[in-house]
Amino acid sequence: MNSSVSIVIPVYNERENLPELVRRTLAAGRALGRPWELLLVDDGSRDGSTEMLTDFAQAYPGEVKALLLYRNAGQHNAILCGFANAHGDILITLDADLQNPPEEIGRIVAKMDEGFDVVGSVRSDRKDATFRKLFSGMVNLMVRHSTGVILHDYGCMLRGYRRQVVDAMLTCRERTTFLPVLANLFAKRVTEIPVSHAERSAGTSKYSFMKLINLQFDLLTCMTAGPLRLLSWMGLGISSLSIVFGALLLVLRFAYGSEWAGQGIFTLFAVLFFFVGAQFVALGLMGEYVGRIHSDVRERPRYILDRIVGETLGEPTRTTHDRVHS
Ligand code: UDP
Ligand code: MG
Repeated sequence: MNSSVSIVIPVYNERENLPELVRRTLAAGRALGRPWELLLVDDGSRDGSTEMLTDFAQAYPGEVKALLLYRNAGQHNAILCGFANAHGDILITLDADLQNPPEEIGRIVAKMDEGFDVVGSVRSDRKDATFRKLFSGMVNLMVRHSTGVILHDYGCMLRGYRRQVVDAMLTCRERTTFLPVLANLFAKRVTEIPVSHAERSAGTSKYSFMKLINLQFDLLTCMTAGPLRLLSWMGLGISSLSIVFGALLLVLRFAYGSEWAGQGIFTLFAVLFFFVGAQFVALGLMGEYVGRIHSDVRERPRYILDRIVGETLGEPTRTTHDRVHS
């Protein structure tokens, strides 16, 4: 039998996009020709999306389920809530703003059928602000470098995950996660396919500049302690250089006399500022880790699942993961 599919979509204030999203996703789901469900996770919307999702769940019993979070928990936590309540063997995520065309779901599923654990997607012709594309390019390069997994587009949320991988992800207890990277820790066979990318269909990006920066740090810290190691190397490099530099100054002092050293004072200032700057960078990075350790040890729930409306695949009971996390 064909493996079943759960489509998980996080929704945060997406009122204008929902009707078209649900229409197109329903069409894509039905076209799969196998048991499937659509899980819409409302991430504490305040624009009426919550009520719309409830209506959809009631209008399409057996196909649509609405998971309503009590308040905003963040895109990735909303998706995790969807995962914890999904019953499919294959789990597909996409964004609610129609930047990822639901029509591509079939191709992701087909690729999963070939036996891959994770199928990512690369946005061909990405339609986002230029500074975000630059930013992403940098981050993708960094991720590739430090994880060794060659994936080109970590930011594209149109992805497929196998059940085993998702179960492993759900057992992770950290509060700050970047799902595409986390998945790679557990997947054996990973691939990606090119998908088309559209402009946001309506509304504005739910990521402010600060939220975006935070997300990039989530990505970095959930993936590697590399920057910490880099710090030590950097520190080592800087101190060795300063020893060489000190020796050089000493030699020059003896060769040209003390007035030469007096004129060099500005160079020393420059050097000093460089060190001070480096220290602040170091402290800032440490702070990123410490901050995350701090929030992890508090073991706060990632989200509060307020209500579930509708019945799809399997029993609408809370899974063990829900009990673990909330
Ligand atoms: N989203 C969410 N919670 C948040 C922020 C965003 O569930 O706190 C959802 C949002 O509704 C959308 C997806 O995550 O479905 C991606 O958000 P957005 O399109 O704003 O991000 P961008 O495309 O600008 O990266
Ligand atoms: Mg978007």
